[in-house]
Amino acid sequence: MALLVMKFGGSSVSDAAAMSRVARRVVAVREAGDQVAVVVSAMGDTTDELLDLAAQVAPGVPPEREMDMLLSAGERMSMALLAMAVQQLGVPARSFTGWMAGMRTDTAHGSARLLDVQPARVRRALDEGSVAIVAGFQGISTDDDVTTLGRGGSDTTAVALAAALDADVCEIYTDVDGLYTADPRIVPSARRVTRLTIEETLEMAAHGAKILHLRAVEYARRFNVPLHVRSSFSDQEGTRILTGRPLTEDTMEEPIISGIAHDRSLGKVTAVGIPDRPGAAAAVVGAVARAGVSVDMIVQNVSTSDAATSDISFTIPEADGRTTVAAVRALQDEMGFADVLYTSHVGKLSLIGAGMRSNPSVASRLFAALADAGVNIEMISTSEIRISVICDQVDLEDAVRAVHTAFELDADEDAVVYGGTGR
Ligand code: ASP
Ligand code: MG
Repeated sequence: MALLVMKFGGSSVSDAAAMSRVARRVVAVREAGDQVAVVVSAMGDTTDELLDLAAQVAPGVPPEREMDMLLSAGERMSMALLAMAVQQLGVPARSFTGWMAGMRTDTAHGSARLLDVQPARVRRALDEGSVAIVAGFQGISTDDDVTTLGRGGSDTTAVALAAALDADVCEIYTDVDGLYTADPRIVPSARRVTRLTIEETLEMAAHGAKILHLRAVEYARRFNVPLHVRSSFSDQEGTRILTGRPLTEDTMEEPIISGIAHDRSLGKVTAVGIPDRPGAAAAVVGAVARAGVSVDMIVQNVSTSDAATSDISFTIPEADGRTTVAAVRALQDEMGFADVLYTSHVGKLSLIGAGMRSNPSVASRLFAALADAGVNIEMISTSEIRISVICDQVDLEDAVRAVHTAFELDADEDAVVYGGTGR
């Protein structure tokens, strides 16, 4: 008897019919003899609708404690309805809020971190033969207040529950058939990837692939939780994400490139004419970090012995543009640099593949493909298994398609997209 955690995103439980379809799927697994703990997101666009309501009642910055009470209600609706739908099919089911499922978090409302997971009640329900259904995206703080884990946080709930229950697998159900070589909404010829290492998945999630929440992938890596991404709209095999897999002869023959991620909503900041001395980068990037903005790619031009200054450029989420420019400007007089430049609407393309390690021609092939497509590269960064480039946002989709073709990733048939949210 296996123990499965099955997580269903908002598009998989968007209405009553979808809820019943999910219930049938859960019941089929339970009746085959396995134990099932389910994690659900809020139905469809419920979370966005609740955010809208709050913005009308409390324009500006709504009180964060009440915001979490409000948003956590979306997942409670889903868990109760799904429990009813499962019971309709003659199988016992019980729902649990994040608190009841033992999800203890810190007190950071809106982006709380899990500190401890003690799902004793979930375990008891499973041992009694019930399907346990847990509300995603929420927990209870060390102050006993309801918290939420940040947008898309139900993935993290699912992985954390799977780790705490020592489940055999954590299945993430969404509205596409798995992880693809590129976003099928942009590259219709994208191909489903059958297996991926956790490192590749981490790079994908960190650089714009929307299917899995980054924190969930990090959690899965830390606790060795095998993930399986699949569609709730089909019986396709999906994508298996393997943790701690040793490199074998079989896996070494896998494709060099496993996929392309993209992120279209970045901004680029440049501090021009910074005095070329120790501590300059620390001061600039430190100020941005203190403003609560996470800096992504950083490039400093080469300091030459004859120049007394250098430039530092970095990318940030587009939404943080104003905050970031203000934080850097605040340093300008004190540090004596010439100017702060800001460009919004830049995009990032990331080519990812574990096989890159042993394949030195990947970078030149990437740059040639972008050149052929007429795409100007503004910045470049690399990791062992990733190469990212920054370009103008208007070129991004063409760039993704061109690179996909250049690395021979195109499939013969178009990918199927069932919903449209990718969750
Ligand atoms: N309902 C929450 C959101 O929309 C959490 C989730 O779906 O994972 O962000
Ligand atoms: Mg959602």
